[in-house]
Amino acid sequence: MIRDWQQIKRDASIESKWLFPSQKMVKDHHYSAGYLGLRIAELLETIAERAPFVGPVEGAEGNLIHFDLSTIDPYSFRHAFAQRLADATDSEGRSTTTPEVLQDYMGHKNFNTTMDYFTVTAKRRKKALSAIPPRRLNLLGQPVDIDYERDSFGKIAVTLGTCTEPQNVSSNGHSCALSHACESCPFFLVDPLERDGMAAKRQHLKVQLERARIIRAASHMLDHYTARIADCTTIIDGIDEYIDGLEDEEGAAISAALEQMADVRRRATSPRRIDLRQLLRGAQNSQ
Ligand code: SF4
Repeated sequence: MIRDWQQIKRDASIESKWLFPSQKMVKDHHYSAGYLGLRIAELLETIAERAPFVGPVEGAEGNLIHFDLSTIDPYSFRHAFAQRLADATDSEGRSTTTPEVLQDYMGHKNFNTTMDYFTVTAKRRKKALSAIPPRRLNLLGQPVDIDYERDSFGKIAVTLGTCTEPQNVSSNGHSCALSHACESCPFFLVDPLERDGMAAKRQHLKVQLERARIIRAASHMLDHYTARIADCTTIIDGIDEYIDGLEDEEGAAISAALEQMADVRRRATSPRRIDLRQLLRGAQNSQ
């Protein structure tokens, strides 16, 4: 929505360092919170008239709450914007916004204020994982013992699991021989709680394969993606088999944690759009 708005500003030759520049000021200035508050009140009135969108939305702890529309104010948009950026991950589960970038966007003087948003993200993930002891599976879905003392120098964390390749470990992750195609690497151990992340990676690879087909890439490139997709499937099947083989209580705890992890990822990556322009136009027309 913000990208659309920035395009509208460019199309209308509006030059300002502010996202919402005031048109009434002689000097470059942003809209006052009071003015935005009034416009938001108009918007909410229209929403309330046309569609009572009261329903489950995400609370600060990742829980679902029933939201009272009348509590929306300009500041809540600012919070929501920052939290979505802090939560956002790419198709491989990597965070797409660094705290420094978010601090810059938000104009926070104090870095700790920015980090509060990342703490909420971390809390959501931690909540999903806290009840479950850590586990690692090899590429065939077989459990591998975790030795904390040895792990601290024999393994490093990578997206969706752990890397045990000695050269890459000794260079702290800077000399991967396979450009992080971990799903096809015998040195990769997957965290079973990252099942959903592995499914997202497979989906990403499928998209890459389609794009490679469209541009008529060499057949060995298509084979490359096809094999990696198959490797992701082997890992996912291995995780499923592992979970199926657990005792009822343990399996149920992992399944619940997997669902929570999937939910965190879904909320962080799913697009949520309301056509504000349309609603505001509607509000103006009805005046
Ligand atoms: S591809 Fe292999 S060597 Fe590279 S980071 Fe992944 S597990 Fe480590």
